[in-house]
Amino acid sequence: MLRHISSVLDIQKGAEKWTVLAQVVHKGHNQLTREVPPRRIMRFLLTDTEGTKVSVVTYEQHIKIFNKFLQPYQRYYVSNAIVVPADPTYRVGSYECSWILNYKILIENYAEPVPPMLPCIFELTNFSDLHKYADSDNLCNIRGFVIHAFPVKQADPDCTSRDIIIVNEEKKLMLMTLWNEFEHDEGIKIADMISTAPLIIALRVKVTTFNTLSFTTRYSSGILISPPLPDDLSFKQWFTLNKEEIQNLLNAKTYSDANCLLPPPNEEDIKAISTFQASFPIQKAAWVQGTVKLAYGFTKYWTTACVNCHKIVNADIDWIIHCPLCKQQSEVELRARIPIIITDPSSSIHCIISGEDAEKMIEFTPLQLKQAQEDGFGIDTELNDALKKYTVVCFLKSYETLFQGQLQRKNTVIKAYIAAELSHHPLPLALPENTQVSSALGSSSARYPEKSSKDQMFTPTTKLVLEEIAGASSYKEGQTSTTSGAKRSLDFPEYLPADTLPEHATKTAEQFAKEHAKSYNPPGNMKDSPAKKAKAKED
Ligand SMILES: [Zn+2]
Repeated sequence: MLRHISSVLDIQKGAEKWTVLAQVVHKGHNQLTREVPPRRIMRFLLTDTEGTKVSVVTYEQHIKIFNKFLQPYQRYYVSNAIVVPADPTYRVGSYECSWILNYKILIENYAEPVPPMLPCIFELTNFSDLHKYADSDNLCNIRGFVIHAFPVKQADPDCTSRDIIIVNEEKKLMLMTLWNEFEHDEGIKIADMISTAPLIIALRVKVTTFNTLSFTTRYSSGILISPPLPDDLSFKQWFTLNKEEIQNLLNAKTYSDANCLLPPPNEEDIKAISTFQASFPIQKAAWVQGTVKLAYGFTKYWTTACVNCHKIVNADIDWIIHCPLCKQQSEVELRARIPIIITDPSSSIHCIISGEDAEKMIEFTPLQLKQAQEDGFGIDTELNDALKKYTVVCFLKSYETLFQGQLQRKNTVIKAYIAAELSHHPLPLALPENTQVSSALGSSSARYPEKSSKDQMFTPTTKLVLEEIAGASSYKEGQTSTTSGAKRSLDFPEYLPADTLPEHATKTAEQFAKEHAKSYNPPGNMKDSPAKKAKAKED
């Protein structure tokens, strides 16, 4: 009797004597389950010809049979597998069951020279929406070309990782870290074919605020390399057409540039601070907006950090270190690190703002902050006077840390925009009167304040003190030739580079982010980070 070929949706719990023509979409790793005691497990994702996906598992001694037999994108007749309710983590689409394979399950090769395109649809996330997933357990599926594979990193004998760079059709570049089995398996395959820029689909990857915004593989993730997709050809043509531009973005390291990864958000993406605080158990990062002031009670407003990844390291600025976080040989830079309070109508939140985002709001270079502390000058009033002029829109991240045996909630600004940088993005929150100062000056003036406004800002005594610090600092800068961030030494001449003039009123957010990134190359920087150097080269 001729066998009837069913579709996946026909196969419910208790179904008997059935056969489905199924195509392997993804083959997982030989992993351990999270049970006690753990079992070996291997997962597959199959689809029928209608595009209905089904998650399939096999355990222990049965793995070796199917590991060899079932290969990605090939088709097979699958008959009478065990049908069980699907694990919600791996449930895909409308089908509510998953199948278990053991050595008794009949699987037959479907003889065909070339398997067809995958008929199933993947729900893919745009890279511009990734901030909605950051530091949450809400995993996402993404698609893009891998344009770079970094060397393998060995954190310890049992832990390896490899970073790759992916570009999607939004021309956004993202870093993805492949951990352990993803490095041994897909990482090596991708690195071997990197000259062809393979197209991948990554399923259930996590978005983290590590490296500003990046992907990381999880236990449940899956990576499809060069899957046969119906729109493959047009996507590949798009890539070929834009190859040169994409190469420029790679050279400029836009995958680690906060201006490109987190451009100014849409109004509807900004959360009330109270909502942000309450959603900590579900999501630990979001855009908020509010007025700024200094959080008093601190005396140190600077830190030393790895130039490459900005990890705080207790090291001298003329040292070359092997960074414990990014594992790179890198220089040590001074960075501003200012505790602030951001307030909106719903709540206030304490957070740390550092680097360029902090330096654009204050009147001191990192070296001057250090000098002020070492010379015993209190600069709290000046810092607060400078900060309280601003309303910021910023991407905040919360985390918990142990302090004297107690879990403490801490908040860090990942990226901040001041009102002047958002002149084409009107802020939904009404600004206090005094914030107009920065808006009126325009973005470049906010970074390089005019003499008149500076004179008004400080009392005569403070000015003397600051000039003293500035004098000492510029001497020291000459000596060590090592600083970072903006060079707005108080006795440096006024400098307004042509490309920082406020002219972006009608430009798109993307153009703005790109051009704004350029304006972060302060003139006369004696020692720039590699990212800045690459950008300068491109300019
Ligand atoms: Zn580092």
